[in-house]
Amino acid sequence: MPSPSTDDMSPAEFRDAAARLTEWAAHYLETVEQRRVGHAVVPGLVRSALPTELPADGASFEVMLGEVERVLMPGVTHWNHPGFMAYFPSSGSGPGVLGEYMTALLNQQAMLWSTSPAASELEDVVLTWLCQLLGLPPQFEGVCHEGGSASNLHAMVAALAATVPEFRARGLAGRGSLPRPCVYASSHAHASIAKAVVLLGMGDEALRTVPVDDQFRMRPADLAARMAADRRAGWLPVAVVATVGTTSTGSVDPVAAVVQVCAAERVWCHVDASYGGAAALVSDCATLFDGVASADSIVVNPHKWLFTPVDLSVFYCRRLDVLRELLHVSPEYLAGGDPPGVRNVKDAGMALGRRFRALKLWMVLRYFGAAGLQTRIAAHLALAQELAAWVDADPGFERLAPVSLSVVCFRAVPNHLRLEDNALDDFNAELLRRVNADGHTLLSSTRLRGCLALRVAIGHVRTSDRHVARAWESIRASADALLREYQAAGWRR
Ligand SMILES: *Cc1c(COP(=O)(O)O)cnc(C)c1O
Repeated sequence: MPSPSTDDMSPAEFRDAAARLTEWAAHYLETVEQRRVGHAVVPGLVRSALPTELPADGASFEVMLGEVERVLMPGVTHWNHPGFMAYFPSSGSGPGVLGEYMTALLNQQAMLWSTSPAASELEDVVLTWLCQLLGLPPQFEGVCHEGGSASNLHAMVAALAATVPEFRARGLAGRGSLPRPCVYASSHAHASIAKAVVLLGMGDEALRTVPVDDQFRMRPADLAARMAADRRAGWLPVAVVATVGTTSTGSVDPVAAVVQVCAAERVWCHVDASYGGAAALVSDCATLFDGVASADSIVVNPHKWLFTPVDLSVFYCRRLDVLRELLHVSPEYLAGGDPPGVRNVKDAGMALGRRFRALKLWMVLRYFGAAGLQTRIAAHLALAQELAAWVDADPGFERLAPVSLSVVCFRAVPNHLRLEDNALDDFNAELLRRVNADGHTLLSSTRLRGCLALRVAIGHVRTSDRHVARAWESIRASADALLREYQAAGWRR
């Protein structure tokens, strides 16, 4: 029971509770596949099962664990389930979860070197390892952030600082002599770029959307033309974002060509490889990464496809000093903490206090090893190709995008409904609902060329051929059943 005194939980109680949690966690991971992937609640159900006010008396861990089971678990979406193929899967891998546990336990604040030499130096070492695994040159310095959105925001800040004179002193607003800064990204770039542009006070209009080709890749010729026209109209191009692994289809922008445009125009080139970056570990994917090493900054999220639990994104930058100069502050309360020459990243980003995120990434990389990671990523790429082949071989389905990485987009195309796109959308929306309702698989959707597409993303460490086969069986069986219902209803629903 909670101590009535002023103490923390006693060591003995902690030991018992932690042992209980370990048992519970191991059982959860062992049996997660027997659960339904999706949650089982309606809005408000979790909230209504909890007291509206904090009870005065504390509760034991055993009581809390009971509440977790009873109240929270029904509202948990099982991202740990091997059938999770929606959005981008994130793996709570064994070593990753253990790393998180230790991070919480040690509770390091990696703000100065001296507030945690271990966290500061491990982050440096692990991000250097990852840099090498990604095939990037050593000029890239990495910083951990909480997510790809935060990393992309920092990339846009760096680009502004590198491009706008006196950005730190004078900002962006009220400077009549300063052309309006703008940023370029394809129509398939991640929404966090649009957010970053707004957060930085550039305004929605500053995001210049570059069209994509028939494979959802940015058209570099259109980029160059657009930029030239914008310059004539008084805009100041600040950054181009090329995406390696777009969110809808996993398409890969032609980075080498984008880098060339950026070099000619002296514009910051940022590569958003939040999801796709992991594929750089697999040599077969090398051509997709052509030019990436010449970018100014790159984002990779180990919490997507590198088996690291949320949250951990890495921002790599060739010129992190641009950010350090922009954000350098030296309040008295931090003075004198660090010996000269040590690396600290408090001025390379927004955060001061930072979680010891590198610990879990270190554990994941050390546990699987370079070869183990490569094997797993390669297996996911192969599974996506296999699923694409099954879709292609089935006349009842059509693929809606090429499979560059591990995302497969397609839809069912019953003959009778082919002529009407809305009817196909309705059919596929209902198909998605049924596949997700069966509890073995969780998929999401997107829209491609105006059509609703089912979207399968493979990237969970526990996903194997068995799970992808099961997903495909479920999709086909659900489509067949739905088709029979349409037929029975005379194709009117
Ligand atoms: C997921 C994703 C992001 C955002 O990452 P978060 O960690 O969710 O903030 C940005 N860009 C791309 C291409 C992504 O796939």
